[in-house]
Amino acid sequence: MKDTVTIVTGGSQGIGRAIADFLADKGGNIAVFDIVDGSETVNSVTGKGRRSEFFSVDVSNLSAVEAAVDGVVKKMGKIDNLVNNAGITADKLLLRMKEDEWDRVIRVNLKSAFNCTKAVLRHMLKTGGSIVSISSIAGVMGNPGQSNYAASKAGLIGFTKSIAKEYGERNIRANIVAPGFIKTKMTEILDEKSKEEMLKMIPLKKYGEPSDIAHAVYFLLSEYGSYITGEVINVNGGLHM
Ligand code: NAD
Repeated sequence: MKDTVTIVTGGSQGIGRAIADFLADKGGNIAVFDIVDGSETVNSVTGKGRRSEFFSVDVSNLSAVEAAVDGVVKKMGKIDNLVNNAGITADKLLLRMKEDEWDRVIRVNLKSAFNCTKAVLRHMLKTGGSIVSISSIAGVMGNPGQSNYAASKAGLIGFTKSIAKEYGERNIRANIVAPGFIKTKMTEILDEKSKEEMLKMIPLKKYGEPSDIAHAVYFLLSEYGSYITGEVINVNGGLHM
């Protein structure tokens, strides 16, 4: 990980922020792609003696992503890894779901992976590289009220396996981490009753921390994961196995 450059999308807070911090602890330099201010992450990474740059970019917009990726190469010299982490929810039962709520979630969660992966591949083809996308237990199991989100997260798995097959011979690996219930702003909004019900079903009887996801991402990106591609690692306390 030492001296590598990793793009972390949605790296300004939550799981993305934890990934940036942990990779920096391991000697990595971080480019943060987000639509909200990323200075806390940048300050934290530079505070560890690593380099970090923030790019204000909507990852659902291909031309904006291409410009930001060129910016990373210009400012940081190269791209070794990509973490497709940015994501949103817009939960509704399908009968009530508006077309825009479907489209928005698919664009931000799934099309973003097409945009970012396509843009970094141009650089990784020469050097090799590693890509981890953050799916979800909802993409593996389905979840009522989340048909848009679950479809986007299941789509990431098929996308990733295809990339793993297309670019394995160019020494580019692509893998998935599928979190269960992790304590972040995304899950803060759920009502207490749903949270209690969820906890009862988790064999380890606790929610995950953003750092739990960061550790799995590091494992897959680093030399420890060098013979792993097209894989899905579930990090969910046993909620799904
Ligand atoms: P979060 O809401 O705390 O962070 C998401 C980040 O993505 C934010 O910084 C946000 O600004 C950024 N983002 C949103 N739209 C963007 C866009 N168009 N362009 C660029 N950045 C954008 O959420 P989190 O809990 O940290 O989730 C991170 C990832 O993990 C998401 O993909 C989420 O679906 C996935 N996940 C989370 C959980 C959980 O329990 N928290 C479970 C399974 C999967």
